[in-house]
Amino acid sequence: MEEVTATAVRQPCDDSGGTKAETRQSSDGKGGAPVTQREEFDVLFLGGGPAGYVGALYAAKLGLRVAVVERDRLGGTCLHRGCIPTKALLQTAALYRAIREAGPRAGVTADGVRFDAAAAHRAKGEAVLKLEQGIRHLFKRARIEVFRGTGRLLGPSIFAPAGAVGVRGEGGEDVVLTPKAVVIATGSRPKALPGLPPDGGRIVTSDEALTLEEVPRSAVIVGGGAIGVEWASLWRDLGAAVTVVEAAETLLPGEDAAIGRELARQFKKRGIRVLTGTTVDVDGTEPLPDGVRVRVRPVHGAGDGNVLEADVVLVAVGRAPNVEDLGLEAAGVRLENGFIATGPHYETTAPSIYAAGDVIGPPMLAHYAQAVARRVIDHLAGRGGGRLDPRLVPRAVYSFPEVAAVGLTEAAARAEGRDVAVGTFPFRGIGKAVIEGEVDGFVKIVADRSTRDVLGVHIIGPRATELIGEGALALLMEAAVDELGEAIRPHPTLSEALLEAALAVDGLAIHA
Ligand code: NAD
Repeated sequence: MEEVTATAVRQPCDDSGGTKAETRQSSDGKGGAPVTQREEFDVLFLGGGPAGYVGALYAAKLGLRVAVVERDRLGGTCLHRGCIPTKALLQTAALYRAIREAGPRAGVTADGVRFDAAAAHRAKGEAVLKLEQGIRHLFKRARIEVFRGTGRLLGPSIFAPAGAVGVRGEGGEDVVLTPKAVVIATGSRPKALPGLPPDGGRIVTSDEALTLEEVPRSAVIVGGGAIGVEWASLWRDLGAAVTVVEAAETLLPGEDAAIGRELARQFKKRGIRVLTGTTVDVDGTEPLPDGVRVRVRPVHGAGDGNVLEADVVLVAVGRAPNVEDLGLEAAGVRLENGFIATGPHYETTAPSIYAAGDVIGPPMLAHYAQAVARRVIDHLAGRGGGRLDPRLVPRAVYSFPEVAAVGLTEAAARAEGRDVAVGTFPFRGIGKAVIEGEVDGFVKIVADRSTRDVLGVHIIGPRATELIGEGALALLMEAAVDELGEAIRPHPTLSEALLEAALAVDGLAIHA
């Protein structure tokens, strides 16, 4: 990887294989730091998160000359503040639970089991670092050049179809890049909620929650989406008293209603308080010496409010795209509902400027961002590309129990007027689930009775996030539900639940 720091960009740089660089005085005419101009790149990614770094690696594999502008660390939110560090902590929580609960049941007891927060954070940090080093190594091998600093579109220029991108390094030095194409992949940040401004300690977003050294004794989590339920599960496993406040009628309201209801049932069994149909009162927040008091009220009707007190309030009400200060307007890149509007090849409204990842809107998922970035590169490399069908994008939530789904919910399929048939099979009837002691939850398959198409697969229970790969493949291959029931699974495995659920569509499940 050629990493160009603020100082290094001042040097004409030809060590990346015949690159062409030109140094001139800054354009403000005030004799500021010299500006280096580079024009040899086929594609430049603005942002080195899942969309940017995966797109860059894929582009390099296809022989394109690639640059990535990143002001922070390669890997983005997913690697540093999202998917990876949270799953590392959830892994600790799962182990802690297993040693205490599954261990004795299976004949393994351990004395003096305790949670060591410092060690858990160390393990999390090590996982992140290893993966970051992995990306850096792959970048180096692929000769991808990284420009450290904040990038901004400078508007159309006669030098490059995509216009120029200015990069301001940490020391204030500039480099101007004029690539053939630009992909905006600047990601997103946690949304704030009026009345609950993050203060880094008592009122936090998922960013700060990751840096808390200790598990709070009590937590109110506002938002029962993916982030809210993962943190609720994590903190509960580590001993906190947790309340989840969700405005919709079920947890994970984007998912099949049966999944949200089952998750709430299992959460309650674990001692997590779940308040659905409830929102926070924006004027009802009060700091306490050791925490926060928040007033909550029903979303509908005039029912009584409730006052909750906790050490920590986590605000997890969605994420906002990072579209400010990018020079979008000058470059002609238009927004739609706050996100960057994109066409059939994820092109923006400005020529040769594309967008991928959270900036283009939901689903805001790392694997979707990566897949879109690859589509953009396929298009640029003349290999097709085109828009992905969002129905083929699996969703995965790493709470206990895990939740994963792909395709249509039952309600969405009915709303489309499909001739819906549903097959549900509980993990209770699966040998491997019984052996593992995780029998709660089910697989639900939504199919079309007349065409036999699989429309959606919904899983709550053990290893749901791994099992959903089968559903994603079935949908991509346009499998008939009969094929999902015919494919032979090894016995005993949890994957047999998919076979049984497929048979259940016609009332033919064996172990039910
Ligand atoms: P989300 O949109 O998934 O969920 C936010 C929830 O907050 C919604 O259920 C909404 O109804 C609720 N809400 C909003 N305002 C509220 C209020 N005032 N009071 C009570 N509830 C309120 O957003 P998120 O959980 O913050 O996650 C952000 C993004 O990151 C999502 O796109 C998510 O898919 C993604 N993400 C995914 C994973 C995963 O797949 N494992 C993990 C983390 C984040």
